Amino acid sequence: MRVGSGFDVHAFGRGDHVMLGGVRVPHSQGVVAYSDGDVLLHALCDALLGAAGLGDIGQHFPNSDPQWRGASSDRFITHAVALLRERGYSIVNVDLTLICEAPRLSAHRDQILNSIVRLLGIPDDAVNLKATTTEKMGYIGRREGLAAEAVVLIVRS
Ligand code: MG
Repeated sequence: MRVGSGFDVHAFGRGDHVMLGGVRVPHSQGVVAYSDGDVLLHALCDALLGAAGLGDIGQHFPNSDPQWRGASSDRFITHAVALLRERGYSIVNVDLTLICEAPRLSAHRDQILNSIVRLLGIPDDAVNLKATTTEKMGYIGRREGLAAEAVVLIVRS
């Protein structure tokens, strides 16, 4: 068994929604990002790559490469999952934490969970999604951006 962790942050910017776990969540702002700025999927991608010892998201999808401009982060996850499968790994479970003051996760949690379960091709109970704030402290507390953490356990099947 191998464990991987991931962390990602994006600043809020112009826009009317944020992408979270592949789901479009309405918000008073968007995020500043080269891709679609999906913090949950970026943290998840890094955790998947980390668990398999495959570096990080920036090595696989460099933001100097125009093909990733505005890219849907689903593609990052699909690619990472394929790399793991090629190496004989399967995912045991995934634990994700969204860290922000807004948007609130609760109204979108089921949809996001379903999206991630579908992307990873694993059972419903293998994905857990949590949310927290920073008690109004720091850049997240000032609503300047949002962050996510991911932990993934994989096993060679
Ligand atoms: Mg990112």
